[in-house]
Amino acid sequence: MQVTREMFNEVMVPNYNPAAMVPVKGEGSRVWDQEGKEYIDFAGGIAVNTLGHCHPEMVSALKEQGEKLWHLSNVFTNEPALRLAKKLVDATFAERVYFGNSGAEANEAALKLARRWALDNHGEQKSQIIAFKQGFHGRTFFTVTVGGQPAYSDGFGPKPADVVHATYNDLESVKALISDKTCAIMMEPLQGEGGIIRPTKEFVEGVRALCDQHNALLIFDEVQSGVGRTGELYAYMGLNVTPDILTTAKALGGGFPIGAMLTTAKIAESLKVGTHGSTYGGNPLACAVSERVFDIVNDRQLLDGVKQKEALFRELLGAINEKYNVFEEIRGQGLLLGAALKEEYHGRAREFLDASTEQQLMCLVAGANVIRFAPSLIIPDEDIKEGLARFEKAVAKVVQG
Ligand SMILES: *Cc1c(COP(=O)(O)O)cnc(C)c1O
Repeated sequence: MQVTREMFNEVMVPNYNPAAMVPVKGEGSRVWDQEGKEYIDFAGGIAVNTLGHCHPEMVSALKEQGEKLWHLSNVFTNEPALRLAKKLVDATFAERVYFGNSGAEANEAALKLARRWALDNHGEQKSQIIAFKQGFHGRTFFTVTVGGQPAYSDGFGPKPADVVHATYNDLESVKALISDKTCAIMMEPLQGEGGIIRPTKEFVEGVRALCDQHNALLIFDEVQSGVGRTGELYAYMGLNVTPDILTTAKALGGGFPIGAMLTTAKIAESLKVGTHGSTYGGNPLACAVSERVFDIVNDRQLLDGVKQKEALFRELLGAINEKYNVFEEIRGQGLLLGAALKEEYHGRAREFLDASTEQQLMCLVAGANVIRFAPSLIIPDEDIKEGLARFEKAVAKVVQG
């Protein structure tokens, strides 16, 4: 069958608008399209392809498990899921793990757990969820309502109730909303979709203190910031603030769909038998691949490498900016970086992205004013240099109109 980009409009629901080229093959941080044209990948499948494309260790984990056992459902447990859960528990604050298949599902589980925990321990009046404007937590109706962009949750009928939004990095705005009726605060410890915004120390420590003061749970959505992305295994580890519930997905599977919710033994008690579940969650195939990814990423040398690659990105982006004067700042952490456009280029991030694709570079945006880079955590330095040389050409094209 002849497959073309035009087919997308004929057979797919129109909720996406994918690029004109259709990728067919990837290796490391390089991707090829149907015409054999080669691209450097700074998008990393939106912070998912932790080890690039078709990493040999991941391919072997997939093949090994693929010849053993694919699926059971949660009527049975399985070895890969238990091994992965043990490794997550050993490496983090958490003592219990729930597996789903995506970030949204991990967050859905976190929110339902928080509500049930509050009901069990404090009563039904404790149901308020505080989240943040510009935050992003997924596209299920509950998670998208908790997310801070009403445009994404409007128009689908009555929303899940008792969800309010404060302003990120503004502790006073949280103080104005929190009370003993607050069940949980959900936040990204580094806002991704919202524009690559790091929390200040006072803010994140203040949020933790407010949760403690009002017996509310602190939920960190590390779907984008987790699994080495910031140069720490999880972003919370660099913040000296420990959440009560943490969600992880994207990079956890390195390209295989998986999500997980991590919490303490005490809080986990509220998810009693039958309270929540998923047919595929904890699927042996997903867990076997994820276990291999986690083994490779949970390594000081690899994590230090992320910080070195960040420094290289910053140096070369700085040099581009000296020539073209387009960025307000380079922000973010590790290999989740945002080139924030100067005022005069506001609203044009998408143009930079399209110009990059033209120069055979895949990157992302985070809103209309930020170009986002989330490459493989082991992208070779030569690919960073070559990719940014292509990016410079793209910037030149946009600047020169
Ligand atoms: C991508 C993302 C999600 C949603 O994950 P899905 O796998 O698309 O459901 C949730 N939270 C954050 C912070 C994300 O970046």
